[in-house]
Amino acid sequence: MDAETFRRFGYQLIDWVADYLQEAERYPVLSPLSPGEVRNRLPTGPPLSGEPMEAILKDFQEIILPGITHWNHPRFFAYFPANNSAPSILGEILSAGLGVNSMVWQSSPAATELEEVVMDWLRQMVDLPQEFRGVIQDTASTATLCALLCAREKLAQFQVNREGFSDWSGKKALRVYTSSEAHSSVEKGVKIAGLGSQNLVTIAVDKAYAMDPGDLERKIRADREQGLTPCCVVATVGTTSSTALDPLRPIGEIAQRYGLWLHVDAALAGSAAILPEMRWILDGIESADSLVFNPHKWLFTNFDCSAFFCRHPETLTATFAIHPEYLKTDRDQEVTNFRDWGIQLGRRFRALKLWFVLRTYGVEGLRQKLRDHLTLAQEFKGWVEESPDFETLAPIPLNTICFRFQPGKRSGRTLSAEKLDGLNKDLLDEVNRSGKIFITSTRLSRTFCLRLCIGQTQTRREHVLQAWDALQGSQVVQEWRQKLR
Ligand code: PLP
Repeated sequence: MDAETFRRFGYQLIDWVADYLQEAERYPVLSPLSPGEVRNRLPTGPPLSGEPMEAILKDFQEIILPGITHWNHPRFFAYFPANNSAPSILGEILSAGLGVNSMVWQSSPAATELEEVVMDWLRQMVDLPQEFRGVIQDTASTATLCALLCAREKLAQFQVNREGFSDWSGKKALRVYTSSEAHSSVEKGVKIAGLGSQNLVTIAVDKAYAMDPGDLERKIRADREQGLTPCCVVATVGTTSSTALDPLRPIGEIAQRYGLWLHVDAALAGSAAILPEMRWILDGIESADSLVFNPHKWLFTNFDCSAFFCRHPETLTATFAIHPEYLKTDRDQEVTNFRDWGIQLGRRFRALKLWFVLRTYGVEGLRQKLRDHLTLAQEFKGWVEESPDFETLAPIPLNTICFRFQPGKRSGRTLSAEKLDGLNKDLLDEVNRSGKIFITSTRLSRTFCLRLCIGQTQTRREHVLQAWDALQGSQVVQEWRQKLR
């Protein structure tokens, strides 16, 4: 493609994206397609000769776009968001244009040094102690795996890296502790790190679904008495189901008392700590060894961008560094080589988009957006609680509401748990199929919950109201209201 053609289509696509961001609302938020519908419209083999961009863009519009679930839609309330913003997209364009690989300092000094700077800005924004050093990972799952590997190596004095697991299996097995509400990435990391999922110890939660430190200490002691080797605690600040907040201070004290690595998974919630009034969610973080949170979840930065902070970067580098001849440079003693801070060698220039976001919004601009989301979540909570037949199912400290339709709430008529679960599944299915909103579900204490998360960049009060109206106006709710009238 020559420069002129690139320029022409570049302008066209920027126009397209600008319109899309403004008008995402005109699409059904959840793609209505059935499995196979996109694949069946695509050729089974690659084109032998090149095709014109016009043809590719036409197929993008006609085949790909209908199969898109619109994460940028203001009525996207599902999962946790992978939100973005115009400045972040501009940063991504430059990063793609430059196409650099920031594996070592020399491979693009600016990529490494900008990453060091923006990660330190983020550290200051969430008020982490100065000794924490940051690195951008692709996802929280990878960061948690890195933390587990560091915990393993620190405890084993790098013996597992050298000799494999021979000494640390069976009765001496390394044990990892996390709550029953922790994200599945912890179990995945434990498996990949070779620790074995049977050595992942589930800690009980309290009524607010936060880790019970008493149970943590009991289980660590029981393991020690059996000759097992406590290694790491993974605490969650903002659990996936209900954004429950594990109490870091007592958990940190226990981790220190027994010499365990404490990793904090704050994938979504960490961003909220940039608000002075919400910083308490990280109270006690100074005793943690590592922390991850995702600017790609709630700091308006394109997926992927996961901020991993470690209090002992020397443990991180001792765990991951390898020095093949072909990567050595004369500057290695003076500079940071981020290839030694994680699993991958090649690394995208992700710091650029984060820099664009932090500079365009400024800290106050970002705080305002997060405050708006938190206020809307409290407002939604009020609507649910005042409603005659909806109820909340967990505390709402942040931006995520777990709730359900409960037709017997006021009348006292009791419906069986199965009946209620079934009703709410039908309601979920109906509102999502409508294309008006997209919410997801979870289970808390075995109860099926509808789950609505307010974190999309474009979401305003009117969109949250529309979500509430979609639920109220659904056939499931209307029919039950008729029935009980
Ligand atoms: N941890 C928590 C608490 C999460 O909610 C999630 C995803 O929603 C993850 C980890 C995994 O995030 P990622 O997709 O960045 O690996």
